[in-house]
Amino acid sequence: MKRLIDLRSDTVTLPPDAMRRAMHEAELGDDVYGEDPTVNALQEKAAERLGKQAGLLVTSGTQGNLASLLSHAGRGDHVLVGHQSHIFKYEAGAASVLGGLFLEPLTNREDGTFGEEQITAAVNPPDVHRAPTRVLAIENTHNLAGGAPVDAKATKRMAETAHAHGLKVHLDGARLFNAAVAFGTEAAALAEPADSVSVCLSKGLGCPLGSVVVGDDDFIGEARRWRKMLGGGMRQAGVVAAAGIYALDHMVDRLAEDHENARRLAYGLAEIQGIVLDPEAVRTNIIYFQTEQGISLDLAKRLEKRGILMDSEKTLARLVTHDGISSADIDLVLLAFAEALR
Ligand SMILES: *Cc1c(COP(=O)(O)O)cnc(C)c1O
Repeated sequence: MKRLIDLRSDTVTLPPDAMRRAMHEAELGDDVYGEDPTVNALQEKAAERLGKQAGLLVTSGTQGNLASLLSHAGRGDHVLVGHQSHIFKYEAGAASVLGGLFLEPLTNREDGTFGEEQITAAVNPPDVHRAPTRVLAIENTHNLAGGAPVDAKATKRMAETAHAHGLKVHLDGARLFNAAVAFGTEAAALAEPADSVSVCLSKGLGCPLGSVVVGDDDFIGEARRWRKMLGGGMRQAGVVAAAGIYALDHMVDRLAEDHENARRLAYGLAEIQGIVLDPEAVRTNIIYFQTEQGISLDLAKRLEKRGILMDSEKTLARLVTHDGISSADIDLVLLAFAEALR
């Protein structure tokens, strides 16, 4: 079978051989009893990398965000999220459906952030007509803002505003390590202003599944109870955690390669007649673009015929670089696009 160049998402990454070996060799126990040494080691490592007291392995980013929000707020509470955020758009309404949380979408600025005045204006005053505002959720990198990395200063500014109103701050850091690599900074510096952070192991970091949530001891205690309730209490989960440990040790620095490939792809695409894209906006591993004719199913089909998969919605298409995409692949993709749009 002809090899596909799959740019739909960085979730399609397959665990490298050395990661599989680490999974095979992991020391195991029952994690619901807290007795899996590999899970405990991953949780400690993640907490340390992100500058928090404790960590918790969860099954997915959606479960991590949900367990976090439910630990910070309860039924009838008001939670501020971005109108373009993953939590608001792509988690099947979980926080409302399962948690009874009332999500209010604030309009994300183009870079994925919020202004201080926006946050302040959205906080409900104590009043029987109003749901009490408890949490601000932010996202880094911001997927729908073109994978924009949000710097420590902007994160701090948003978090300080939220804290001044007594809110908790949850950071959906599914791709936080991409942001850290883009800025050449420690992920802990980007996580510092948030009370809780969720990070995906199964995207650019290459694990077959899993996310970690970090925060203080009390928060993680609550999140552990919610994880159990959500069906995420896993037993010999060290097989998953071993992949996570390998990823934190070996897969973070290489994200720079994905960013370089995305940058080169973006500059190449911008040269092709018919493609609408600002390559300077591409800072991490995600590219969104349009075409002058609009994104058609037809374009996706023509690319697929040439062995290239992309993610497309009605008006926008997305390409994501990852461990399975080489620099040589980028040349092939550019060639295929030029042909498909001719
Ligand atoms: C992928 C992603 C998640 C979590 O997705 P899962 O598929 O549930 O792991 C959360 N937030 C953002 C921004 C994401 O890109």
